[in-house]
Amino acid sequence: MKVLVLGAGVIGVSTAWYLAKNGHEVTVIDRAASAAAETSFANAGQLSYGYTTPWAAPGMPKKAMKWLFKEHSPLIIRPDGSVYQWLWLWQMWRNCNAHAYTTNKERMVRVSEYSREMLSRLQAEEHIDFEGRQRGTLQIFRTDKEVAASKKDIGVLQEYGVPLTVIDNPAQCTEYEPALAHIAPRLAGALYLSNDGTGDCRLFTERLAEKCVGLGVRFLFQHTINAIETNGCRVRSVLANGQRFEADHYVCALGSFSRPMLKTVGMNVPIYPVKGYSLTIPIHNEAAAPVSTVLDETYKVAITRFDRRIRVGGMAELSGYRLQHHPKRKETLDLVVNELFPNSGQTESAEFWSGLRPMTPDSAPLIGATRFANLSLNSGHGTLGWTMGLGAGKILADLISGIQPEVVYGDLSPARYV
Ligand SMILES: Cc1cc2nc3c(=O)[nH]c(=O)nc-3n(C[C@H](O)[C@H](O)[C@H](O)COP(=O)(O)OP(=O)(O)OC[C@H]3O[C@@H](n4cnc5c(N)ncnc54)[C@H](O)[C@@H]3O)c2cc1C
Repeated sequence: MKVLVLGAGVIGVSTAWYLAKNGHEVTVIDRAASAAAETSFANAGQLSYGYTTPWAAPGMPKKAMKWLFKEHSPLIIRPDGSVYQWLWLWQMWRNCNAHAYTTNKERMVRVSEYSREMLSRLQAEEHIDFEGRQRGTLQIFRTDKEVAASKKDIGVLQEYGVPLTVIDNPAQCTEYEPALAHIAPRLAGALYLSNDGTGDCRLFTERLAEKCVGLGVRFLFQHTINAIETNGCRVRSVLANGQRFEADHYVCALGSFSRPMLKTVGMNVPIYPVKGYSLTIPIHNEAAAPVSTVLDETYKVAITRFDRRIRVGGMAELSGYRLQHHPKRKETLDLVVNELFPNSGQTESAEFWSGLRPMTPDSAPLIGATRFANLSLNSGHGTLGWTMGLGAGKILADLISGIQPEVVYGDLSPARYV
């Protein structure tokens, strides 16, 4: 079968890989000059299998209200002039209860854990170098209040069998992150999740795209998709750069832009672009740098180690599709990295970046068929698209190929919002 994948982010490329593995003739179209040029470009780099958690959680509305008035807040809401923004927030608020949280978390953990399995199978065959590490996540708490609040999370993690170590004596943090020695006495506690990994999502996606080419996948870069043409209940073609592309099946993996694109064919996909920021800093003092990921609970900022770079990422800004950089966000990232890992990198050469997380109100992705018989969706992976990418790609490729996916998939379908 001829399959056209729209979007060459980590989700589109992962889907293309498994489609090609299943024997299809695959073409990937993207407006950028290379793979992973948008949200998959400089994310925080966490393969967060253990800490896969929905944003919509009991108590979140109260927390969010407090954050809105805080300096260096992890959450910023600026009206974008659309009613949809408030509707999406309302849908998210409706998921902030214990029952919805458990359901959504189980869906996310299922895709993430499957992704972990897929990465290990892929690496056994392909050995992709993406500056990956398997040294866990250390979540640090600066106040007793944060430690107390973490007990609930720990309960949930234990329920899901996620291996973890509760660190009551902060000095112990240095066993995992020696460079925290200067600040450890001032911390209130920590949590260590040994199963989590790290790695550069862009490097991985680019290299997987190269492997795709080896399987015969065709990439059409610098092709902006202008329209999806439908014919009753089927997609007839896709228009990009004024050219018409036809296939037997189409996959929409346009990240945050899946919603506006699918709106043109009458579909209402509940994805909102939640902006986040990152700083990438070249390391100049190895001993002062992190060895894996440190998650600062106070600022909700993650600091991740690549080979010779540190990636600092965080913040959730709901302000529409604009990507412009707000200097205040850079100040927050600078503040956290300088407090935790002072003099570890060349901050003057740091690269500041922003990207739009494709978020659903329940935080779980949308993977599966749409109301058009030959159009599938793989989007809405929100804060964890890098973590979930391979699993999500494999599930959808199997569904399209008429192969029973290896995990439960029905409740991931976009139909749950119809
Ligand atoms: C600050 C930040 C930190 C993050 N940290 C992590 C993390 O630590 N771990 C984790 O798992 N996830 C993380 N994420 C989330 C993760 O980056 C995303 O979920 C993931 O990259 C989404 O991938 P995607 O392929 O769906 O979207 P994208 O990577 O955005 O891909 C969509 C593609 O569609 C193309 N496109 C869009 N419109 C058109 C059009 N009209 N025509 C042609 N092409 C088009 C774009 O060029 C793009 O290449 C983070 C995100 C941010 C912003």
